[in-house]
Amino acid sequence: MTDCLFCKMVAGDIKPDTVYENDEVLAFRDINPQTPVHVLVIPKRHIATTNDLEAGDAELIGKLYLVAKQVAEQEGIAEPGYRTLINCNRDGGQAVYHIHLHLMGGRPLGWPPG
Ligand code: 5GP
Ligand code: ZN
Repeated sequence: MTDCLFCKMVAGDIKPDTVYENDEVLAFRDINPQTPVHVLVIPKRHIATTNDLEAGDAELIGKLYLVAKQVAEQEGIAEPGYRTLINCNRDGGQAVYHIHLHLMGGRPLGWPPG
């Protein structure tokens, strides 16, 4: 997807503040952090929203969570705790249409979200 911001990061055209990378997954700091630790974990393959997930994507989505767990440990928020979430479409608050898992922590988080 040439017009996708996160695909441009995967391609190396835009350099994010990367905290973890492997063959399938990239994790980088959110440009507008809402919590002291705010990392986005994305599949390198373009998937627009959770509505577009297919059965064959199950392992890849699981890998996003395993990377989030590892980054949480790296960032020192594993023990106090954190939140992982994926926004979908307008009502979910999705702004970038390349699926991304938010890893948020470093302070107590309110519930329910707004
Ligand atoms: P969404 O609202 O789609 O779930 O989350 C999109 C996230 O991407 C937002 O938290 C926003 O701050 C972040 N974001 C948007 N543009 C950029 C960018 O150019 N670089 C980085 N690192 N994050 C971005
Ligand atoms: Zn993309």
